[in-house]
Amino acid sequence: MDGWQFGPAQELRRAFILDDTKLGPIHWYHRGKSAAVVMSVDDIFPGTSQSAYEAGGDLEKGALGRLLWLLERHPQLQLTLFVTPDWRRISPVADRIWQHVPWLCDRMYLARVLPKGTMDIRKHPDFVAVLNAMPRTEVALHGLAHVNFGYPVSVEFEHRDREMCAGMLTEAMQIFEEAGLRYVRGLQPPGWSCSPALLYGCRDVGIEWIMSARDVRTPISKDARTAMSGLSGVSMLFPERIAECLLHISTNFQATSAPERAFDILDAGGVLSIKAHITKNVPGHTHLDGVDDLYMNYLDRLFADIEERYGDTIDWTTLGSLATSLSTSASTPPPERKSPQSATDRAA
Ligand SMILES: [Zn+2]
Repeated sequence: MDGWQFGPAQELRRAFILDDTKLGPIHWYHRGKSAAVVMSVDDIFPGTSQSAYEAGGDLEKGALGRLLWLLERHPQLQLTLFVTPDWRRISPVADRIWQHVPWLCDRMYLARVLPKGTMDIRKHPDFVAVLNAMPRTEVALHGLAHVNFGYPVSVEFEHRDREMCAGMLTEAMQIFEEAGLRYVRGLQPPGWSCSPALLYGCRDVGIEWIMSARDVRTPISKDARTAMSGLSGVSMLFPERIAECLLHISTNFQATSAPERAFDILDAGGVLSIKAHITKNVPGHTHLDGVDDLYMNYLDRLFADIEERYGDTIDWTTLGSLATSLSTSASTPPPERKSPQSATDRAA
């Protein structure tokens, strides 16, 4: 959701500090690559056009079909899909009468919700099969049910302690495994929220990377820090280790961003990190970056321009692959400079 601000990353670091020398932005990629492109899509679950709204459940005939079209048009493109194992939220807008009742409003769902288990992916094998079959696509976690008691409606991990966060993440991964859905150990927290309790919970259950911050406003520079949604103060362009064994990658581009922003990020040697939401219109809210024909056509044109302008120097990858490739980089030196176009030249 838009506009929610959370604690500065520096506070999280202080709560977490294990070894200062291993924290901070990471400025290099594969040898010979000068910058990277990733694209992620949120809020995917088996909702169909016959239910409250379509969120992937119509399979190739719905929004997933639009993503498949984009993948086919651009053989270098790779995707990360953030899937919610048992989605329950119908509307992100608080509309229950008890929202006005003190004490009660903090202990009840303030928006309409589906019964637990309705969208449990274990009951939707066709949905799982299509996700598993999508080319150059990985799945990562997007909460457990994407709803919480009280305000804000969608910020599922807010006000949860470390043990509860770890328990919810464990249940989410268990559902993925029992459904047979292949996934990587990354998390986009619903509502962008990233508390120290959640970060500790992530480490407790082996989550390796997290995507909390979104900033599509701050001007591009190598030193730009996030100041919009989610974590503030983390690198806007580069992967950053915010705790031992936990990498953060920001979102810095969406449908409302001009192409020049993408080129500026790539020229700075950064990770162009594109965000989309699988559904354009949900009850009470319109996602500016919803997967519709207009956004897909925009990205089709943008990717063609990037391919023409930068050729083979771009690392088209996934968040999970990027995190894995960097997971040991703090303990190993950056790659040698092979040529003036090496990643360290462009990105350091
Ligand atoms: Zn979401």
